[in-house]
Amino acid sequence: MISTMLNGGRILLGPGPSIIPERVLKAMAKPVLGHLDPDFIAMMDEMKALLRYTFQTENNVTFAISGPGSAAMEMSLVNMIEPGEKAIVCSNGYFGERMRGMIVRNGSIPVDVKAEEGQPIDPVKLDKALSEHPDISVVTMVYAETSTGVQSNLKELSDVVHAHNAICVVDMVPALGGSVIKTDEWKIDVAYAGSQKCLSCTPGVSPITFSDRALEKILSRKKPVSSWFYDLKMIVDYWGSGQKRAYHHTAPINSLYALHEALTIIKEEGIENRWERHKKVQNYAQDKFEALGLRNIVEQEYRMPQLHAVEIPQGVDDFECRKRLIKEFNIELGAGLGDRLGKVWRIGFMGEAAQTTYVDYCVDALKKVL
Ligand SMILES: *Cc1c(COP(=O)(O)O)cnc(C)c1O
Repeated sequence: MISTMLNGGRILLGPGPSIIPERVLKAMAKPVLGHLDPDFIAMMDEMKALLRYTFQTENNVTFAISGPGSAAMEMSLVNMIEPGEKAIVCSNGYFGERMRGMIVRNGSIPVDVKAEEGQPIDPVKLDKALSEHPDISVVTMVYAETSTGVQSNLKELSDVVHAHNAICVVDMVPALGGSVIKTDEWKIDVAYAGSQKCLSCTPGVSPITFSDRALEKILSRKKPVSSWFYDLKMIVDYWGSGQKRAYHHTAPINSLYALHEALTIIKEEGIENRWERHKKVQNYAQDKFEALGLRNIVEQEYRMPQLHAVEIPQGVDDFECRKRLIKEFNIELGAGLGDRLGKVWRIGFMGEAAQTTYVDYCVDALKKVL
């Protein structure tokens, strides 16, 4: 039985937020503690270890920032790229463009490596751009582009970046806890994620990790980060390594309890098992969608496991269907982003929802409204 159907919560099957399990909701309801309380600090230390496990990294600087995935994106970019500095921006969709926009606002200079919409980032194009710009030391990219449902080959891209001795900053917002991620093995220098996608946690706290190479680049900056809030050097004193903790800002205490619980659930399941579960449910769902006549618009080998981008069949009213799904079945699906609105649905089985029972419920509901 689907638990959220019992407690009345919406069945969230879009690109995030995803369904939050009962255990995580309960953790969030604990009485608040001070942000320098020894019990809270012990919880933060545990959380750093859980995050390292989930990212598959030994990076010392691994923590959760107070803010949504976009805040983690901004923090990564403003620390890693100085104003006036050029950086390669790989973009194959909406979130790649968001990274680009942040880089421009930071006074930095984007050098674009663009992919056709619906295609992964091309390592050959990236290699060419790095050869043409030997002065560039930072490359940014989105691993799983939720806007199109495309997952790029991160290991291959990272190999190209490192062949040119550059640093890669990777958006893993929907990927963490769903897609295979091997931060250290793949030599990813900076990665950040979201809590409300495959971690099935409350929105507003975002995992982030920096390698030693990335930290060296930050330490060699000519000027400090102009944003007070996002200056990594200051936040590290709060998340610190045990003894000396300094107030930086009041952490979202209860959201961090929730994240701690969500990560504990992942540890209990085992990260490989979780990746495997997402993959299995992806295969199960895509067969069912195909049988329904819902065509996935992404080539098989580039599909992200936790999100299906399917074409809305001819003659079907997008808005009316989604309205009925909510009213009659309590299901929220994702609409198309930008000019894909009305043409595409984004159906996500993320974290807690990556179970065949959710797929079956969703497919039955779609059968009725289509
Ligand atoms: C959801 C998402 C984001 C933004 O996360 P917010 O928490 O909404 O700020 C960034 N990148 C990707 C790929 C996403 O899917």
